[in-house]
Amino acid sequence: MVRHILDTPVEYLKGIGPSRAEMLRKEIEIRTFGDLLHYYPFRYVDRSKFYTVREIDSDAAWVQLKGRITAIQSVGSERVSRLVMTFRDSSGETELVFFQGLKWIREKVQVGREYIVFGKPNLFQGKYNFTHPDIEPADEEIQVHQEPLQPYYSTSEKLKSRGFTPRNFVRIMRTLLSQVYQAIPETLSPQLIRQAKLISRAEALFNIHFPRDPQSLAKSQERIKFDELFFIQLQLLRLKYIRMDKVKSRSFVKIGEFFNSFYRNNLPFELTNAQKKVIREIRADLGSGKQMNRLLQGDVGSGKTLVALMSMLIALDNDCQACLMAPTEILASQHYKTISRMLQGLTVEVALLTGSTRKALRADLHTRLQDGRLQILIGTHALIEEQVQFNNLGLVVIDEQHRFGVAQRARLWEKSAIPPHVLVMTATPIPRTLAMTLYGDLDVSVIDELPPGRKPVKTYHFYEKDRLKVFRFMKEQISQGRQVYVVYPIINESDKLELQDLMDGMDTVSRYFPLPEYQISIVHGQLKAAEKESEMKRFLEKKTQIMVATTVIEVGVDVPNASVMVIENAERFGLSQLHQLRGRVGRGADQSHCILMSSYKLTIDGRKRLETMVRTTDGFEIAEVDLHLRGPGDLQGTQQSGLVGLKLASLVKDEKLLRLARELAYRTLDEDPKLERPENQPMVKHLQSSEFDWGKIS
Ligand code: ADP
Ligand code: MG
Repeated sequence: MVRHILDTPVEYLKGIGPSRAEMLRKEIEIRTFGDLLHYYPFRYVDRSKFYTVREIDSDAAWVQLKGRITAIQSVGSERVSRLVMTFRDSSGETELVFFQGLKWIREKVQVGREYIVFGKPNLFQGKYNFTHPDIEPADEEIQVHQEPLQPYYSTSEKLKSRGFTPRNFVRIMRTLLSQVYQAIPETLSPQLIRQAKLISRAEALFNIHFPRDPQSLAKSQERIKFDELFFIQLQLLRLKYIRMDKVKSRSFVKIGEFFNSFYRNNLPFELTNAQKKVIREIRADLGSGKQMNRLLQGDVGSGKTLVALMSMLIALDNDCQACLMAPTEILASQHYKTISRMLQGLTVEVALLTGSTRKALRADLHTRLQDGRLQILIGTHALIEEQVQFNNLGLVVIDEQHRFGVAQRARLWEKSAIPPHVLVMTATPIPRTLAMTLYGDLDVSVIDELPPGRKPVKTYHFYEKDRLKVFRFMKEQISQGRQVYVVYPIINESDKLELQDLMDGMDTVSRYFPLPEYQISIVHGQLKAAEKESEMKRFLEKKTQIMVATTVIEVGVDVPNASVMVIENAERFGLSQLHQLRGRVGRGADQSHCILMSSYKLTIDGRKRLETMVRTTDGFEIAEVDLHLRGPGDLQGTQQSGLVGLKLASLVKDEKLLRLARELAYRTLDEDPKLERPENQPMVKHLQSSEFDWGKIS
């Protein structure tokens, strides 16, 4: 096959060569012409204008100065750690500071010579300075055109030392575009370009590097973002179509004795309308003959477990087994208990399998699973292990916290010759845009209603000075028969130093809440499973009034009588964790309270997180704020998603475009499910090309 020009190794571009190509690969992972073409400017600057030192009055803008270096100073002991240059123009002086590439910078710059300096000023101890500005001799002829929207590429001192200065990048891009422009393939069908009102891909890629004006830049960005989002959606939805077409699953047409007698005799309460709606959706999937792949989203406490159980009973009614997989042992055993309790009176065989299940028990369990006697298996990752073989697995429920990736989901399929139906439940809501990308191949059900009678948890933010007030409040609640959690942020449960915080906290609490009047449970990751268990049990049975714990209690613990959640050093928790923790209270009919204790020093984000918690109890709203604060890259689970493939598009800012992309991907596949039409061939080609790196996504 003839190599496409965009797959040409970058060393063959005029002026690069093998050793500099190697540098590009190492520093910024650019290997081919195509990679370079997609190395977009990180900003656009006006380099026709010069400022003077005195004119600098904010650290917001990038400025260009012309003047002389009057002194160079090496600062730091033994091994020089930084270079400070004094730069002077007719209006005054400023400092240029360098931390990296000191040797080559030192060699390049001469005192007394005139330079053009370009960079972003920082305010430091009341004065402006520049760290790692671009610096070029003023007398060297600058060939680059001086348009107001000059592309500016990010680079490093290492790259600069090998000639990859921002200005040289501009030259390189010009050379590249003149060579490849004619060969840039269009990736979308003419219909799509029309429907989404886009410009051509070649035009967009040219303009992203060399925009004529702000409008054409905006149109180019839109086109490139659309492509990024569209092809991820097209690929995800194509997977879904292929699965629907090829993967037949058992059709659970029967609603029988298990489901019906549970519904009639065991249901402890009326289902909420949202639960009913979701169960209907699941039933329709299970009976369709196609494999179900459904994501169940619902806020903390919205009653997902019950939906899972009733879905599993449908599998049982159709002579199949079901399993429920949870991310932690505590959660798994909690599910096991809840479900066993709810099934009382029905003849259903349920078992629990986790890492700490004893060997003898395990062997028996494997046998009963294989001959089909065991009907519902609940557990952790242990369920994925090879020895675990089902007789007739019909439904897999995954209660996850973004912890099971696409690959692990797939391994559960392999547990059965005919792929089982799959229901994924998220423990906390995730923003819509993220769901569309992370779970874009799944159908989505939402429980958007809490069981009746729940009062939203009241949330307060307090400082150390309010400690006594908080303790008094705890006492008051305890005297009314309520129970209280006090949670500490421990990131590494095996870290003794960190655990000390918890122990100190325990001391303080036990001094104020002395025996024998008050009993306290303590739970952390260093305890053995049995100890943890018994501490929890004491709390559950109301033998203790206070539970001091780390976040091991984050998921699953269900003690409706607990009405106060005190979170220590709350500023150290992420939003979704805070929301999860708060979800541990407010489960009964009484008013519950969440108290966020923090230090006085808060970062802007830390303050925003606490304010958000105080303002709202809506998990979806909290998830949106979380996404805005952290960006999708830092959210758990995004590694397996398509997000790494996004260069320009943002799941925070480009929701509208994402929706359009998804809708058009749907429409495309509706009309041409196998992408066979001639006009859709550019899309197929792009999905197969090296430019679309699905490997990173799936
Ligand atoms: P989550 O969605 O967080 O997993 P759970 O399934 O643990 O929520 O349910 C939270 C609590 O609400 C449990 O105590 C459960 O028994 C109760 N619950 C679930 N559905 C209803 C309902 N329809 N009416 C009243 N209480 C319910
Ligand atoms: Mg749950």
